[in-house]
Amino acid sequence: MSKVIGVILAGGSGDRFGTQKPKQFIDVFGRAVIEYTVDAFELNDGIEEIVIVTREDYLPWVERIVVKNNWRKVQHVVSGGKERYHSTLAAVNLYADEDLLIIHDAVRPLLSQRIIDDCIAALQKYNAVDVAVKSVDTIIQVDENDCISSVPFRPFLRNGQTPQCFKRSTIKRAYDIALKDPDFRTTDDCGVVVKYLPDEPVYVVAGEYRNIKLTNPEDLVVLKHYLKG
Ligand code: C5P
Repeated sequence: MSKVIGVILAGGSGDRFGTQKPKQFIDVFGRAVIEYTVDAFELNDGIEEIVIVTREDYLPWVERIVVKNNWRKVQHVVSGGKERYHSTLAAVNLYADEDLLIIHDAVRPLLSQRIIDDCIAALQKYNAVDVAVKSVDTIIQVDENDCISSVPFRPFLRNGQTPQCFKRSTIKRAYDIALKDPDFRTTDDCGVVVKYLPDEPVYVVAGEYRNIKLTNPEDLVVLKHYLKG
């Protein structure tokens, strides 16, 4: 029997945000950002279990907020690694091949129930699923001299968000191959499947512009606006 697992990645240090605390732990209206994020998974009927991947030094603190919130689905709080993909792998290694992993950035606290539902539904047909919105800006690729090297045609471009979702055996197989590549580098998980399992289709669920990733201090204004609403 496969289980549907919410994986919350909270192992980053958030250097770009300019606060002492990593951005997933900053306080917004009396709650840490990660509390809003975990709530979205705790409330979703399709999610059976949750794992939180965090920094070693935040493990006791996260364990305390799990108790404080009375989250019933959180079964594991584990430490992540230096790069985001190390944190992904810490969760992937906990589960069985047939399990379905809904991997989400802790710093995207405005995730809707509709996106989670659509991801779980898409996993009935596909082994790998991304979430994205249409790119509103024209995306330019630059070279090492900051000059444009290419301008991909905008109608084919999307901005990737999370969750990124996988049958566990698929993401495990992709990383097993990737980790043997001496030039391996990545900023997300779907990219690893696209590159190392080229025959595996990665379906794209419609994201939402409000599913922002808390990255720069201005994003906090947007987050507060939506939370007030
Ligand atoms: O670094 P980035 O902004 O892409 O981080 C996206 C998410 O991945 C954040 O929620 C962050 O906490 C998490 N992350 C992680 N382990 C790392 C780096 C980032 O869990 N080593």
